[in-house]
This record gives sequence, C-alpha cells and structure tokens, in this order.
Amino acid sequence: MPIERSFSIPSGLAVEESVCGVRRHVATARANGRAIGFVPTMGALHAGHASLIEAARDRCGSVVVSIFVNPTQFGPGEDFQRYPRTIDADLAACREAGADIVFLPSKDEIYPEGFSTFVEVAGLSDVFEGAIRPGHFRGVATVVLKLLNIVTPDVAYFGAKDYQQQLVIRRLVADLDLPVAIETRPTIREPDGLAMSSRNRYLDPVQRQQACALSKSLTTASDRLRSGARDLTPVKAEMRRIIESAGLTTDYTTVCDRRTLRELTEPESRMVLLVAARLGDVRLIDNLEVTLL
Ligand code: AMP
Repeated sequence: MPIERSFSIPSGLAVEESVCGVRRHVATARANGRAIGFVPTMGALHAGHASLIEAARDRCGSVVVSIFVNPTQFGPGEDFQRYPRTIDADLAACREAGADIVFLPSKDEIYPEGFSTFVEVAGLSDVFEGAIRPGHFRGVATVVLKLLNIVTPDVAYFGAKDYQQQLVIRRLVADLDLPVAIETRPTIREPDGLAMSSRNRYLDPVQRQQACALSKSLTTASDRLRSGARDLTPVKAEMRRIIESAGLTTDYTTVCDRRTLRELTEPESRMVLLVAARLGDVRLIDNLEVTLL
C-alpha cells in the first residue's frame, strides 16, 4: 500500500511525485529554451541546500530539486527510519531559494517491485566513508544515476560538504558518458564553523558545542600546513587529538590527494583534509581543501 503523504505546495512551485510528471515539466521547460539545473537532496533542507538551489537559479532557466530519503544508501542500523522529514518547510525553502519544480518520489516510484540494477564506482567508493559504510556509495551512485536519467539536467549541483560523494559522482558521470555538467559548491557553515547538515538536528545543545571540534581540527591542520609542516603524521594526530579531547570518537582524520583520495605522506600543493567522528549515535563528517602556493 502506498503511504498517503500530504503537504502544502507554495504558489509558484510545481511538485511532482511521478517520473512521468517530472519528465513532462522538464520537457516543457526545455522546449521553452531553458537550461535545466538540478539539486538532488534528502530533504530537511538548510542553508547549504539553499546555496545549491541559488547557484542553479543563477545559471539555469529552470531549477529542479529532488527530495528523496534514499533507502539503498543507508546500512542496517543506520538512521534511515529516523532521518528528519520536514516536507512543508522543505517546499517553502525550495520556493524561497528559487526552485521551479520539486520531485518528491515515493520509495516505490524509484525502486518499483523487481528493481535489481545497481551501479558501483570501484576504488573511490571503497575508502573512508565507503569503508565505514559498506554499500553506501553503491546506493548513492545508483540513485543519482536514476535521478540524472529522470531529470536529464544540463547542470547538477553537489556540495563539497560530502567531498567523497561528489568525487564518486564525477567519476560516475565521466565513466558512463552522462551528458551533464557537475558543479561542486562550497560548504556552508554555522557562524562557529560547524558544517551545516541535516543530521545536526540530532545534536543536543551540549553535543552541538562538542561538534565544533571537527571544523576546529580542520582549520588547525590547515594552519599547520600553511606554516610549512612537512610531516603529515603529527598533523593527522593533532586533528584526532582535537576531536577526541572534545569527547567525540574519531572514525578517521586524514590528508589526501584532492582528486583520487590517495592518502598522502607528505604535503602536495592541492590537498583535502577529511575527518569523520561519532558523538553518541550521531555520525558527522567534514573536510577542508588546502592549497599551498
Ligand atoms: P543531502 O540532503 O544531505 O543528501 O545533501 C544534498 C546536497 O546538499 C549534497 O550535494 C550535499 O553535499 C549538499 N550539502 C549538504 N550540506 C551542505 C552544506 N553545509 N553546504 C553545502 N552543501 C551541502
């Protein structure tokens, strides 16, 4: 039985729950000479998502946002069931940021009975987030490929917040010759540095303070590298120390090549610092690109 969903649609916004419906809208926009910008999300929208929608609005005549909590990218015991679902606020935020169409499919619309095709981006999907969350990027790559096939955007927008994810998607698009440009936009942060995330809603006020350790570890390591640190072992260890002294449990702190995520032993001119940690049963990730001149 499909779950009945009710929501109010802000004026000026089209909401489509079916693949054919969204395709019809996109066909009309394209027939009117508009470029299609696309922002895939899982909802519980915040200013980070809004920044992607605004970037799409700036460049494309028609902006499609999808809101779909994708079950295949969650592992057993992860937060699929409790992932925040705030559809009315999300639709208002989409309208406010300049979206034209929101694609709001049900699980059955994306994964109908008998669904059995998955796509895997080998290598990049197997390290860091992929090693800790087996199958995660298989779920991400599969749903993003499906959404790109449904929406057929000219440009799709992703956040640097999920650094490894945008690399996986870039690889997918290149390897499968998908006719879409991928834009990665900067991470939007709270005033105290915490990267905005739908999962920040899980944090109680004390944890919310503790969570700042992630961004602090990144800016401290970035400062060390900019002031000429050559040995990355103490840099990684210091990131870990900052995170753990705030009471979090570290999954990884690392310094990598920006394109391949190969772990570095000595600094290069373009690096990315990646951190992941747990705070109670909340998992947080963050990253920072560092360029040495
Ligand atoms: P999600 O809803 O978490 O799947 O995220 C949807 C898109 O928003 C992804 O491309 C994320 O990388 C991006 N995003 C999430 N948080 C932020 C942020 N703080 N700043 C910029 N983009 C973000």
